Amino acid sequence: MDSYLVKPGEKIKLTDMSTSETNQFSGNKKAGLEQLSKLNEKLSNLQELLYAQQKHKILVVFQARDAGGKDGTIRSVFSGVNPQGVRITSFKVPSDAELAHDYLWRIHQQVPGKGELVVFNRSHYEDVLVVRVHKLVEKEIWSKRYSQINQFEKMLSENGTTILKFFLNVSKEEQKTRFQERLDDPSKNWKFNPGDLKERALWDEYSAAYEDALTQTSTEHAPWYVIPADHNWYRNLSVASILVDTLESLKMSYPAPAPDLGKIVIE
Ligand code: ADP
Repeated sequence: MDSYLVKPGEKIKLTDMSTSETNQFSGNKKAGLEQLSKLNEKLSNLQELLYAQQKHKILVVFQARDAGGKDGTIRSVFSGVNPQGVRITSFKVPSDAELAHDYLWRIHQQVPGKGELVVFNRSHYEDVLVVRVHKLVEKEIWSKRYSQINQFEKMLSENGTTILKFFLNVSKEEQKTRFQERLDDPSKNWKFNPGDLKERALWDEYSAAYEDALTQTSTEHAPWYVIPADHNWYRNLSVASILVDTLESLKMSYPAPAPDLGKIVIE
């Protein structure tokens, strides 16, 4: 899974990156799903440790194009965790109050506390993606945001937050297939947003914005992973695997019991 890591300073070109590979599983979905279920169990145990230890803070960021699979990934990867220690936050078009503040204001309020795992469904990266593509602020403003974001994430990391960022990379063809399914399948009609077609027409502009964001903001303390996302099962498996590896590397343990616990007698 390391091959999906954007190394700090590496220049990213999305057309060079696979959207559909399934790596060592070579299309074997059954084996992939078995592996995913093992990872779900591991993640469940690791999150219990995280919650019990009340030491680490975990922030997982998801960005994708429309129909890129953020919702499905979150549903699948976090299906086994204890909802009490996990929070999913979606960032929509900013409210008037949010727009009256700096763009990181609403983000900072939602970052994880000790023992918590927080998932961002969209994030502060919208402020260098949709905001840039639609020229919602001038270049002079958004172009300064990459280093501001790096500094913000560094501050979070230096204060005990482990940050992982995933870009779910779907192809233009696969996006078309998914939009068509949303039109054809009555149970998916609600997901279809005509505005998504306008965004699709800006595919190349979004590619350029993603490439700059990935290139400029993948750091040691807050790495980006570009995940091939045309196959849902492989996308879920890849994210789960990276998350489990990262949580295992924290070497978490249950807090030490209170002294003399063995001497306590319950009448
Ligand atoms: P999703 O597509 O994530 O399922 P929505 O359909 O509600 O959720 O879309 C949320 C919208 O909010 C997206 O179009 C996204 O680009 C927009 N958005 C998020 N953050 C910002 C921002 N900072 N500025 C402008 N638009 C934003």
